[in-house]
Amino acid sequence: SVPLAFFSGIGAGSKKGILFKGGASIEAMSAVNAVVMDKTGTITEGNFVVQEAVPAASGRENAGTNGTQGILTADGLLRICASCEQSSTHPIAASIVAEARKRGLELEKPDSLEEIAGHGIRASLDGAEILCGNRKLMDKFLVSIEGSRAGTFGSEVYVAVNQLYAGHIVVADTIKKDAKPALRCLKKMNVATAMLTGDGEESAKAVAEEIGLDEVRAKLLPEDKLAELTRIREKYGSVMFVGDGINDAPVLAGADVGAAMGSGADAAIEAADVVFMTSGVEAIPQALGIARSTKRISW
Ligand code: ADP
Ligand code: MG
Repeated sequence: SVPLAFFSGIGAGSKKGILFKGGASIEAMSAVNAVVMDKTGTITEGNFVVQEAVPAASGRENAGTNGTQGILTADGLLRICASCEQSSTHPIAASIVAEARKRGLELEKPDSLEEIAGHGIRASLDGAEILCGNRKLMDKFLVSIEGSRAGTFGSEVYVAVNQLYAGHIVVADTIKKDAKPALRCLKKMNVATAMLTGDGEESAKAVAEEIGLDEVRAKLLPEDKLAELTRIREKYGSVMFVGDGINDAPVLAGADVGAAMGSGADAAIEAADVVFMTSGVEAIPQALGIARSTKRISW
């Protein structure tokens, strides 16, 4: 049976765009010791913008597909990458396609295509094998990317043509404005904070330093996130996970409390115990505050 007081908690939440799916989720949230968050779309806006396209410097005579023989131009690199990213729903893919369209580049449809979760895209374009994705994808297909510069901010999407590094595209996302104050609030509430991301070490560390997180884990595959969550739970006790992606559904279900951003994927919203309709980070301390005070008056 659910104490009557939980109904007032559900009401208080709904006024702030916090949808508790029943009294049990409020009760579980009142006991949370640590908040584990996804980066992209949860702590950051998830709206990537291309900063620059950097073709490989030299010596890549074979790194061109039909019509782009020889060393690629920045536009040539973008055209190949955007052609392969067209069918992806990943926010990084959307930013690359948007930049290509802005530059008026004509995109082609790949002959075949495979999206590798947490890695990127592998496609066949004009008879060439194209890879677009992170360092892990390049490692997986034995592409050497020596000579590319590692950026501190933003993520890099590496492009390879027939297993030869052809250049990289720098994309950057912005941290949500309320992330830093929300984390300060959580600290005051004695709640530990952690971020799990599939993104690279450098951009993860930059975000963590900017907003002040207790723990950060980068370069995680979707399946690694659940293992990390379990480790954090062993260390701190009851954990809430906040995410927004399709890939986040298993971690949401595996946490003591699963919360989804309203802007997120349907699968995440469905798997969650709580939904933050405003998609703001400040909803996290607000929800914990409501849950704690509801629990107090329910005695
Ligand atoms: P996050 O934890 O940031 O939500 P994802 O699992 O969605 O991570 O993606 C992890 C990483 O995999 C991204 O940061 C990116 O480097 C790479 N990636 C995934 N999908 C794509 C894609 N379609 N194009 C390029 N890179 C991708
Ligand atoms: Mg995500």
